[in-house]
Amino acid sequence: MSTGASDELDPHPVTGAHFLSPVPPGTGWPGDPATADTPVARTEAQVRRLAKGASGIRELDARVSVCRACPRLVDWRETVATQGRRAAFADQPYWGRPGPSFGDPEAAVLVVGLAPAANGTNRTGRMFTGDRSGDWLYAALHRAGFANQPTSVAAGDGLELTGLRIVAAVRCAPPANRPTTQERLTCAHWLDRDLELAEPHLRSMLALGSIAWDAALGSARRRGWDVPRPKPRFGHGAEALLTTAAGRPVRLVGSYHVSQQNTFTGKLTEAMLDDVLARL
Ligand code: SF4
Repeated sequence: MSTGASDELDPHPVTGAHFLSPVPPGTGWPGDPATADTPVARTEAQVRRLAKGASGIRELDARVSVCRACPRLVDWRETVATQGRRAAFADQPYWGRPGPSFGDPEAAVLVVGLAPAANGTNRTGRMFTGDRSGDWLYAALHRAGFANQPTSVAAGDGLELTGLRIVAAVRCAPPANRPTTQERLTCAHWLDRDLELAEPHLRSMLALGSIAWDAALGSARRRGWDVPRPKPRFGHGAEALLTTAAGRPVRLVGSYHVSQQNTFTGKLTEAMLDDVLARL
């Protein structure tokens, strides 16, 4: 069971300011999009309503970052943040909240991830930040010209993305990295709104892994886009040409996920990642 919150204050690794874990909204965490007044979704119906009603990216990110609609995931993210911290980070505050999307609000490219890592995004509050998968992804984004620096260590480290935004199929760290079908369906409302807000300037999407590929295709269908049938198959380097309801083409490219399981074994190499990023 989650304790809900720790009563200990720990220093942020960049700013040195002290925070509770999980981090209360609007208390000064670098990049926290929410305030104490941001509405909190506690059911799937509320996720759908708050996602649809978000007027723009900033409001959407804020609402995502305080969501509590999946009890199992809320319990897990807060338990890790209070009792399950990795030893190397035991003296740091843990974000312990959903990971909002990160990057350029006017992006032409979306990168779709699976879900936050328990000691990565769930600690740092930023997508793919604070673990090995992020080291790989941001180094590649820097080589491709989307990131102003090759590393993403912690929120507040100066990292900025241009022309690209990172979203995810699920926004809370799941136990064993496995969200349930219902959790994926509930969180998809946030992704749908991300896609809707991106549509006017979107050119391409990169799906990291098959769950992200399916999430992107599902979201595109719900948005009324033209998606090829039979369903395009995921693979590294796979491509599908989608068409928005307004008739704009959007290219979906698949990549093996940047997980350690893939990068340590050589299933995904730097050259393979650079190749798919160059096609966006
Ligand atoms: S996984 Fe998504 S829908 Fe579920 S609690 Fe987290 S942010 Fe909310």
